[in-house]
Order: sequence, then C-alpha cells, then structure tokens
Amino acid sequence: MRIAIIGPPGSGKGTQTYRIASKFNLKHIVVGDIVKDEIRKKTELGEIMFSYTNVGKFVPSEIVMKVLEKQIQDLSGFDGYIIDTAPINLDQMQAMEFIPLDAVLSLKIENFDILRTRILSRLICPKCRRVTSVSDTENNLCNNCGAELEKRYDDKIETINIRLKQYEEQTVPVLNEYKKQGKLIEINAENTRQEVFEEICEKLNNFFSKTL
Ligand SMILES: [Zn+2]
Repeated sequence: MRIAIIGPPGSGKGTQTYRIASKFNLKHIVVGDIVKDEIRKKTELGEIMFSYTNVGKFVPSEIVMKVLEKQIQDLSGFDGYIIDTAPINLDQMQAMEFIPLDAVLSLKIENFDILRTRILSRLICPKCRRVTSVSDTENNLCNNCGAELEKRYDDKIETINIRLKQYEEQTVPVLNEYKKQGKLIEINAENTRQEVFEEICEKLNNFFSKTL
C-alpha cells in the first residue's frame, strides 16, 4: 500500500496518519521531519538543503523528492508507506513522478471555523510527533511517550488564515489532478476522530481490494 495523505491544517492528519500507519503496517514518512533529519545529520543532501533554509529560502521540490526517494528505498519490515504531507502544490506533484502512489487520501473540511478552533487548541509532542488537543491532556504530557507537549510555533490565528488560503489556492488543484487519475479517496474529516478513522479504513480496504 503506497499512499499519501493530504488535508488542510487542523484536519487531523497527524493523528490519522499515525493510526493508519500502525494498522496497515506502513512506514510513516513525515516530509518536514525527514528534511530536518537530513540537515541535522549533515548528509550530502542535508548540506544542499541547509544552503537554502539557512538563508530563509524554500528547498526546491526536486531536492525534497530525493530525500523522499531515499526513504522509500528502505521499506524492510513494512507493507508500504504513507506520506504526510506531499505533494502540496502542482510543482511538487510533478517532482514526485518517481515516487509511486496507489492512492491519495483527502481529509475534507468545508467549514474553516472548525479548523481554526482545532488548530488553536492543539499540542504536539516534540519527541514522537503525536498531535493532541488541549482537552485531551491534564498534565500537558504526551500519552504515547511522556514527553512535555508543545504548541506549534505557527499555530496562531494570523498564520492559520494564510495557511488555509494557501491550501485552497495551491493544494486543492493537486487533489483535482488525483481525482482525474482515479486515485483520490475523499474522507469527511468534520466527523469525530474515531468516525474519520473508520471511514478511512473502510475506504482503503475497498479501494485496495478492487485495484490490487
Ligand atoms: Zn510523544
């Protein structure tokens, strides 16, 4: 199973990806994390990427994709992968040509007020990357690994609106492309986390029993 998951900020991507990866035994590839990882380890690609991020520039898509290719070459012990989040624009989609994708999950939320509320109340674990809501924790510690939870630096109302606009303008066209290719699996992400997870499992099982 080679899939990607796409959704606006606050759609519950992190939580769902985590659960999908463990249920279907997939390698969980978080694009932002693997880029940071390469830079931290000072690999050849890491050094190239650092030359961009160091001066506040975006790393070109082709280079990000090389890092992604490296990740999918080693799948020992896994039955596939789930990529969170790519591609986020048409440029990245083109650069991703060499990364096979059987299906793309789209977490759909039409009511942006739901997203704003969710983003403003979310916390992230700096250690295992699990995302939690303020209402789910009493002691501010990660349920998974016990580390102290943090707010994401860009989870502020000013930046949320910019990110939602970017999503509409740049990411929605990507979803339309995958729809044309018959690879898009749309999920109603306005439901509860459990309902969303069940819908994902059901639709993935249906999709893969038909196509594989
Ligand atoms: Zn944790």
